[in-house]
Amino acid sequence: MVKELVCVNCPVGCRLTVEVENGQVRSVSGNSCPRGEEYARSECIRPERILTTTVRITGAIHRVLPVITESEIPLDMIMDAMEAVRQIKVQAPVNVGDVIAENLLGTGVNLVAARSMERI
Ligand code: SF4
Repeated sequence: MVKELVCVNCPVGCRLTVEVENGQVRSVSGNSCPRGEEYARSECIRPERILTTTVRITGAIHRVLPVITESEIPLDMIMDAMEAVRQIKVQAPVNVGDVIAENLLGTGVNLVAARSMERI
């Protein structure tokens, strides 16, 4: 099977052609640097994404706090991760980078605050 992808690692946006056979990447072409091949292999075998969302917060100027995973988590875990995050409620004050959920769903990746929010 041949898959066509666009590398999203930088603004160049190289068009990648990936040959996949029996769940294995046989070849990658069209990439201008090694990061493109790495991206293509990851995207075809086990795609991952950064999760950005919000959690509920009390005692702050807003009712929700933006949060982000420190790195990518498996794409097939995103819905479960969203469900887990929906249960979280934090208390102000919060500083940007504070860990909101450690080792989210056993991924080894922390969910952290994407901004600070003072107590009111
Ligand atoms: S392959 Fe390299 S140059 Fe091309 S878009 Fe990806 S990171 Fe950028």
